[in-house]
Amino acid sequence: SDPEVTNTEVVVIGGGQAGLAAGYFLRRAGAPFVILDAEDRPGGAWQHYWDSLHLFSPAAHSPLPGWPMPRQPGVEYPSADHVVDYLTAYEGRYELPVRRPVTVRAVRDDDDALAVETDRGTWRAGHVISATGSWRRPHRPRVTGGEDFAGRQLHTVDYRRPDPFAGQRVVVVGGGNSAAQILADLAPVAEATWCTLRPPRLMPDDVDGRVLFDVATQRAAARRHGQEAEGLGGLGDIVMVPSVRAARDRGALVAHPMFDRIAPDGVAWEDGSFVACDAIIWCTGFTPDLAHLAPLGLPTEGGMPRTEVTRCLDEPRLHLLGYGDRTGFASATLIGAGRTAKGAVAEITRG
Ligand code: FAD
Repeated sequence: SDPEVTNTEVVVIGGGQAGLAAGYFLRRAGAPFVILDAEDRPGGAWQHYWDSLHLFSPAAHSPLPGWPMPRQPGVEYPSADHVVDYLTAYEGRYELPVRRPVTVRAVRDDDDALAVETDRGTWRAGHVISATGSWRRPHRPRVTGGEDFAGRQLHTVDYRRPDPFAGQRVVVVGGGNSAAQILADLAPVAEATWCTLRPPRLMPDDVDGRVLFDVATQRAAARRHGQEAEGLGGLGDIVMVPSVRAARDRGALVAHPMFDRIAPDGVAWEDGSFVACDAIIWCTGFTPDLAHLAPLGLPTEGGMPRTEVTRCLDEPRLHLLGYGDRTGFASATLIGAGRTAKGAVAEITRG
C-alpha cells in the first residue's frame, strides 16, 4: 500500500478550540482519529491576536469540555496568551493526537472514505470534521481608489501593537469589537479616526460575555418555542472592555460614516470632506476558511455548504464545527465549542 496514505476513522482539520473540543469527545468515544493543524504551535487563532486582547468573559465562563480554563493570576478577563497556554495544556492533558504543521489542501470523495490531502501525505477516513476557523480568510471590502493609497493598509490579522503607528494618522474601519479595541489601543499614541458602515452599537458598561451568552441562550430557546424573545433587545455589538471604556471616556470613541473613496493620501466623502492618513486598518471581518472542501463540489448557501447543525446535508460524512451559529449555537466561542463538538461526535460514532 502507498506509504504516504494513513487510514483512520476520523480526521479533524484544525487544532484550534473547536478541533480540540472534537478531540476530547473522540478520545472519550475511543474512536481512532487524528487532528491536523497548520500552525507551528498550539493555540489556533489565539496565538495571532493583538497583544492587548483580553477575553470578554472570566476564565470560569470560557471552558472547553472536561477541564475548565484556570484563572489567570490577578486578571479577571484572561489575555489571549493565557488562552494559548490553556489550549496547549489541554492538548497535553488529554493526549490529543495533533500533527503540526500539517496543511490540508483538499478533501475528496474516495469511494468508501474521504481522502484528506495535505502537504505531509494523505489521510483516508470515514468521517471528516472541518474546524479551520476563519482567521486565515480575512474579508476586506473594495473601495474606489484603494490600490492608489500611498500609505499602509492592513487587516485585523496584521495588527499586533500600537508602537509602529506612534505619531501617525490612522483610519480604523469597522463597527465591531476588533475595530473598537484596535482604535482604543491606538488612540493614546496615534491620531485615530474611526469609520463604520452603520453607527456602532455599544453595550452597557456592565455587559460582558457572560451576559451575552445568557441572552443568546434565552433567544435561541424562545425561537425554538416559536416565540419572539421579548425584553432581550437593546444590546449592542461592542463589549465595553476596560480599554474601550477608557477610550470612550477620553472622547476618542467617535464613529464617522464610512468614506466613499480612497485618495493617495487619505480618505474622502462624497460631501467633499477629507481625512489625511498614513495607514488604514481594515477591521472588516472574516469568512469561514473552507477552500479545502472545494473538491467535494458541494452546493453552498451563503458561502457555506448546507448543514443540519454540524452535519453537512450533501456529504453526511462531513461535519463543520466552530463557524458560528450556522454550525451550532455559539459554536465559535470557547463555551459553545464543546456543546456542538459533543453533538457532532455523537452522530459520527452512532455510525
Ligand atoms: P481557530 O482558532 O482559527 O483554529 C483553526 C485552526 O485550524 C488553526 O490552528 C488553523 O491554522 C487551522 N487550519 C486552518 N486551515 C487549515 C488547513 N487547511 N489545514 C490544517 N489546518 C488548518 N471567543 C470566546 O469564546 N470568548 C472571547 O472572549 C472571544 N473574544 C474574541 C475577541 C476577538 C477580537 C476575536 C477576533 C475573537 C474572539 N473570540 C472569542 C472568538 C475566538 O477567538 C474564535 O472564534 C476561535 O479562535 C475560533 O476557534 P476555531 O477553533 O474555530 O478556529
